[in-house]
Amino acid sequence: MALEPRGALVLFSGGQDSTACLAWALDRYAHVETIGFDYGQRHRIELECRSVVRDALARGFPHWAGRLANDHLLDLGLLGRISDTALTSSRQIEMQANGLPSSFVPGRNLLFLGFAGAIAYRRNLSVLVGGMCETDYSGYPDCRDNTLKAMQLALSLGMATPMTVETPLMWLSKAETWALAHRLGGDALVELTIDQTHTCYLGERGVRQDWGYGCGSCSACELRRKGYEAWRAAA
Ligand code: ZN
Repeated sequence: MALEPRGALVLFSGGQDSTACLAWALDRYAHVETIGFDYGQRHRIELECRSVVRDALARGFPHWAGRLANDHLLDLGLLGRISDTALTSSRQIEMQANGLPSSFVPGRNLLFLGFAGAIAYRRNLSVLVGGMCETDYSGYPDCRDNTLKAMQLALSLGMATPMTVETPLMWLSKAETWALAHRLGGDALVELTIDQTHTCYLGERGVRQDWGYGCGSCSACELRRKGYEAWRAAA
């Protein structure tokens, strides 16, 4: 497949989903940059995984190494200060009266895409890639397909330049995300995902399970484990 000449900017957190998105972009675009956001996450481990995963991708997949370019890490401490949520403060992760888990940072992806759009504009990149997903998600309204289509339109209009928001995981189950990683990078990418990416809401990295490191019982670990087991069972 011929590579797309447009440059892509991947919203890359160091987790499983954004690692699959980064691999997807490296498979498709000649020039791929990454962006991450430091917003005072309770657990810094995910941010630490970012450079580890980038290095492992460049080392393990030489045909991708030349396409993987700059990384941008933005300090969004402000987001942590305006959000009182379980991801950024010591509140428990629980279901709230409005049906959303307390891990929800209001409008987080809207802000992320706004900042990513600004960086993309300056870097002459016209594709934003994010791991948002409607299938196995926690009900976050800023992960919905229509929200992201609206952001694509808002960014393209607001910056007067075509900006495409790609969400390769939007309609995939977690099992299909494992399958996507396997299709893109074979066993090596699955192993890299298991060993180097972080998902656990509690920041647990003590015990390596079949599907990676994590507490095994938070909602993020549960999704990851069930997806892995379903993919394994079907493979
Ligand atoms: Zn966990």
